Amino acid sequence: MQNRRIVLASRPEGPVGLENFRLETAAVPRPGEGELLLRTRWLSLDPYMRGRMSAARSYAPPVEVGAVMVGGTVSEVVEARAEGFAPGDLVLSSNGWQDYAIARPGAVTRLDGLKLPSYALGVLGMPGFTAWHGLLQVGRPRAGETVVVAAATGAVGSVVGQIARIRGCRAVGIAGGADKGRHAVETLGFDACVDHRDPDFRQKLKEACPEGIDVYFENVGGKVLDMVLPRLNDGARIPVCGVISAYNAEPGDDGLDASRLLRTILVHRVAVQGFLINDHAAEAPAFRAEMQAWLDSGQVRYAEHRVPGLEAAPQAFLDLLQGRHIGKVVVEA
Ligand code: NDP
Repeated sequence: MQNRRIVLASRPEGPVGLENFRLETAAVPRPGEGELLLRTRWLSLDPYMRGRMSAARSYAPPVEVGAVMVGGTVSEVVEARAEGFAPGDLVLSSNGWQDYAIARPGAVTRLDGLKLPSYALGVLGMPGFTAWHGLLQVGRPRAGETVVVAAATGAVGSVVGQIARIRGCRAVGIAGGADKGRHAVETLGFDACVDHRDPDFRQKLKEACPEGIDVYFENVGGKVLDMVLPRLNDGARIPVCGVISAYNAEPGDDGLDASRLLRTILVHRVAVQGFLINDHAAEAPAFRAEMQAWLDSGQVRYAEHRVPGLEAAPQAFLDLLQGRHIGKVVVEA
């Protein structure tokens, strides 16, 4: 048995390329006493991985050049040398971009009885939790308000809009392309969705938000934020979840005027708050219970973009950053 693993071959300067990754094979590791040997079944691909490829200072240390790319996984126990686990058990783990890894029981979460285990990487996992916490705790939407979210058909944004609807808000998505717009409105139930590549984006956003914007859930930054600013109502809230337009760009690329941004925040008394979901683990059980109930009742719908084969992960990651997917991207390893 060989362990295929994808390592960081070099740090990207500007946009990520396939040359920044390398597929290697190595011997499958052997578990010691108290350890589990895990086989990856589903690997989550997420925008934060772009940050880990860079040496720039951030909230988490970078992946070293030559090391396996990090990533959350749903994995199967192959060999259990720890009590309470047996071969075949499924667990949530952080094996990264590789077939096999060793883990200690305290580092994994059992996924007993989950009908669709890969959901633990998406709507019932980190991205869904991010949407739930970011919108409800940071955005604090009230019924009748307008909530706008960009990257609206992605893992986080798709859930943000649906929770906004559940809470009685007008949910307006921003997404790239007509297919995504249709998906947001017809499948996810958004009230409207605007294409940020449309030459009339500014006007269409205005029409989609006739009463202004009360919560702007920030996933992308850049041009989209620029267009949102004039529509913000007094007392608006901006949960700052991510700024994906900046992840692949050179500094200053987006042309956003910081003083204009601050002026809007001042004049409209806007509350802007960044958050990292890792800081809020104590809320996870409440999130899972509520989200599972919404899934069971059909109030929340969820799409996955499944990519076959670990070796396809680098291209799938490039595609993720370019938005060539609808829903949560998972690799079937
Ligand atoms: P998505 O599945 O939404 O994929 C990213 C999307 O970003 C693309 O589909 C694309 O959508 C959009 N996008 C990319 N580049 C641009 C651009 N230049 N301008 C506008 N849109 C762009 O990813 P996730 O749902 O997993 O993540 C969404 C955000 O949440 C990210 O910023 C991520 O970093 C952040 N995040 C933050 C967490 C936290 O703890 N704070 C935790 C988890 C995620 P489209 O084609 O529609 O434009």
